[in-house]
Amino acid sequence: DDRIISGEADVQDLSFEQSLRPLTLKQYIGQTKVKENLEIFIEAAKIRQETLDHVLLYGPPGLGKTTLATIIANEMGVNIRTTAGPAIERPGDLAAILTALEPGDILFIDEIHRLPRAIEEVLYPAMEDFCLDIVIGKGATARSVRLDLPPFTLVGATTRAGSLSAPLRDRFGVLSRLEYYKEDQLMDIVLRTAEVFQVEITKDAALEIAKRSRGTPRIANRLLRRVRDFAQVKGNGMIDLSLADHSLQLLQVDPLGLDHIDHKLLKGIIEKFRGGPVGLDTIAATIGEESHTIEDVYEPYLLQIGFIQRTPRGRIVTNLVYQHFQMEVPTE
Ligand code: ADP
Repeated sequence: DDRIISGEADVQDLSFEQSLRPLTLKQYIGQTKVKENLEIFIEAAKIRQETLDHVLLYGPPGLGKTTLATIIANEMGVNIRTTAGPAIERPGDLAAILTALEPGDILFIDEIHRLPRAIEEVLYPAMEDFCLDIVIGKGATARSVRLDLPPFTLVGATTRAGSLSAPLRDRFGVLSRLEYYKEDQLMDIVLRTAEVFQVEITKDAALEIAKRSRGTPRIANRLLRRVRDFAQVKGNGMIDLSLADHSLQLLQVDPLGLDHIDHKLLKGIIEKFRGGPVGLDTIAATIGEESHTIEDVYEPYLLQIGFIQRTPRGRIVTNLVYQHFQMEVPTE
């Protein structure tokens, strides 16, 4: 999905983000509880000269899971090997990755909920006992051989902890949930990014970008990048509040970070269903989107800011939505 306010990375984000990744826990803004825990576990592992327990990071896209995995490796002083659930198709793919690790290394598996079941089963003994059971030969002569692996730490990332199988989830010693960021934290992230890219920006402009970033650092950085383009083309390169405000309006990102798709969804429920309750599938059919896209992509932030509520009879929009659109709240 190519919405400017999407938490998923697009092609342009990738190279830009490489240069932006904080390298230490100290530089990692927000997520205080997660950081405090990791700090202790990392310290303890170092004192005992052991590998760190396997870590599962979960939360919506763009909140800093990959960044945190890199930081963990950096703080432990080990290498990180990065892959993703859908990229590992056969048990042999995983075996090749695991046998190539150095003792203590971090294996980062993004989208770990998308690992095929057969691969998960190879992962269990690897996580528990640092060994692999591989089958050699075929048919009657086939036999299973146990292979020792170097001790390693698996860092898994997922947007939905619920879709991870229980046996896999249980094998992680540390489970950390990342939360949406607060405005002042996102403002600090915007200011830090501006510094890295040597863009001049005022504090109130950084706050304005933060407010429209849906609690998500990736979106904050992307909006800053777009606003910087406006500043260079239409202004003198400097980003102040009025320039930020004007460019975000042109980008059709409203003061709460909602775009035309959010508007279509919310207004659809108001205009066609008197604000709900209305079932997900019915909404999907009326606005021409897939139910699971609405549920996974459009809805989480609207639920988070209290614009939509889930009830047993379907979705309803709250009074906040009417206020946001300056519409009159209907009386019963
Ligand atoms: P995820 O893996 O959860 O999708 P990423 O780790 O790729 O998210 O984060 C996206 C971008 O947001 C990173 O490149 C980084 O620059 C920025 N970022 C994320 N979290 C933080 C943070 N806590 N402090 C500073 N920058 C962050």
